[in-house]
Amino acid sequence: MKEAGAEGFEVCSICGSRAVYYRRASGHMLCVRCLGLELERGVRGFLRPLRALRPGSRVLVPITFYNPIASLGLAFIVSRMKMGYGSVASIAIPGVLVLEDPKGLLKGFKTFKVGIEPLPKTGDPFAILKLDKLWSLKLARELDYNVILMPITSTDVTALTLEASLRGDEELWADLSYYDIINGTLITYALAGVELEAIMAYTALNGLNAYRVSGAPKPETSSYKILYTLKRGPELEFSSYKVLALFRNSALGKLSFKCGVCGSPSKEPGYCGVCRSIRAYDLIIVNL
Ligand SMILES: [Zn+2]
Ligand SMILES: [Zn+2]
Repeated sequence: MKEAGAEGFEVCSICGSRAVYYRRASGHMLCVRCLGLELERGVRGFLRPLRALRPGSRVLVPITFYNPIASLGLAFIVSRMKMGYGSVASIAIPGVLVLEDPKGLLKGFKTFKVGIEPLPKTGDPFAILKLDKLWSLKLARELDYNVILMPITSTDVTALTLEASLRGDEELWADLSYYDIINGTLITYALAGVELEAIMAYTALNGLNAYRVSGAPKPETSSYKILYTLKRGPELEFSSYKVLALFRNSALGKLSFKCGVCGSPSKEPGYCGVCRSIRAYDLIIVNL
């Protein structure tokens, strides 16, 4: 319910201070602080059963091509979360992305700058997501990190599910898993309990921004348009992951090979279609 404060501005449904965001998911008006706390709760609630922030965890937050801004928001949330004793968190940013942090919110992080080749020419969201996962995993292995937090929200999972279904390509379901453990590294969609709009607003309200210099891939997806036409509904709740897993298992069960780069089930021997399209077998990363 929206309420107006004495001075005529909307007030936060939780603490009564000036509201800056209307959260459709809960119907609350929120101030920046309470929005941050809600998002933090969403991230923590998702990561807890995975024990991602346990003592000794080495956590990498890649600033992704898929959504650099949501990645920054996630990094800021992680920076304020209590982690296990002896754990560390760092940021990795591709050389073709530039970040703006006028308040110095992320200055506590160790930051790695990475050169990545080849970069895809396509705007296929699955290709860009795959590339983000592959470069992050490669870097994590090199620098001995064992947890990777990807900025994929519930809205992204919904859009990608729609996209995979519309395209009828079973291989695409491989990247619709909320988490995977690959060679001992946990890679997870840390924002799966959060909606895209909320994290984007929160990041912008904190002055964090990222932009792409020329050549940096940007996902172009038609399913977001469909999703927004439907007025953000029906968005998959994180709790529907069991239904999603059923579809996923049935799609992936039809595939009899395994990709030599990403390890996902594939239609043909050698590589999956996505890895082929981005020449993932040629992928190299360089610490800049
Ligand atoms: Zn508040
Ligand atoms: Zn692959």
